Amino acid sequence: MAWFSRKKAPKPSADDSAKLEIPGGLWTKCTGCSEIVYTRELARNLMVCPKCSYHFYLPVDQRIELLCDRHSFEEFDAALKTADPLKFKRYWDKLKEYEKRTGRPDAVRTGRARIDGKVIMLGLLNFAFMGGSMGIVVGDKLARLIEAAAQERVPVIIVSSSGGARMQEGLYSLMQMAKVVAALQKLSELKLPYISVMTHPTTGGVAASFAMLGDINVAEPGALIGFAGPRVIEQTIRSKLPEGFQRAEFLLEHGMVDLIVERKNMKTCLSQMVDLLVRH
Ligand SMILES: [Zn+2]
Repeated sequence: MAWFSRKKAPKPSADDSAKLEIPGGLWTKCTGCSEIVYTRELARNLMVCPKCSYHFYLPVDQRIELLCDRHSFEEFDAALKTADPLKFKRYWDKLKEYEKRTGRPDAVRTGRARIDGKVIMLGLLNFAFMGGSMGIVVGDKLARLIEAAAQERVPVIIVSSSGGARMQEGLYSLMQMAKVVAALQKLSELKLPYISVMTHPTTGGVAASFAMLGDINVAEPGALIGFAGPRVIEQTIRSKLPEGFQRAEFLLEHGMVDLIVERKNMKTCLSQMVDLLVRH
C-alpha cells in the first residue's frame, strides 16, 4: 500500500487547461509558428494563421456566422441564469463580471439554425465565459436543445470549447454530465443524429460526457481534447506521455476522433454529414 500513502497527485490547475490566445492589438505573434501576423488579416482568415494554419480561438458570434445560414440562428433561453445553489463565495461577482465582458449570462448559446437550408439544433460553448465551464445553465440549455431536436426530429450539433465542469456549482455541475447524456440517449433512440465538434480546448467533464458521444466526433486541427491535463496524468502514472498526447491528431490516430476539419471547411463538412445521417 506504499503507493497509497504517497503524496496525492496535484489537482488540475489553470496551467493544465489549455491557455487561450485571444489576439488583440495590431499584430499577433502566432502560437504555432511564432511569425508576426497582422491581426486584421488573422480575423479575415477566421482566426486561423495564414502561414501555419494554427487555429486561434474563434468567438461564438463569429462561429454562428461561420456555420449557419445568414440570420438563421434563433436563440433559445438566452436569459437563463444560474441560481448559485451553493452560495459559493464571490461567485455572483464573477458571474456579473463575465456577463459584462461577454454580454451573455452564462457559457452556452443554443438555438435552431439552418445549414445550407437544413434545420438543425445548434449549441455552442463559450470559452470566454468562465472557461466555457458547465454548470446548471449549460447543462439545462443543452438538454432542452436536444429535447427540441427530438420533438422536431432534426439533428443536433454541439460545438464544445470548455475547461469542464464548473467548480462553483459543485455536484450540481457534475449532474449536468448525466443530464445531457440522458437527453442524447433519447435522441439516439429516435435515430436522430448528434454531431460533436470539439474545438480547442475540450477538457474535463465536457470531454468526459457529451463531447465524446457524437455519432460523428469532429475536431479542429490542434485542439486539446482530454479529461485531466497532461501534467496531472504524468504525475499520476509517473511516466512521460507521448508527443502530441491529447491533441486532435493523436486522438484521430487512436480512434477517439473521427475526423479533423479545418475551420474554413467546417460548414460544408457539417452540411454533408447532416445529408448523410438524416433519413429522407
Ligand atoms: Zn502561424
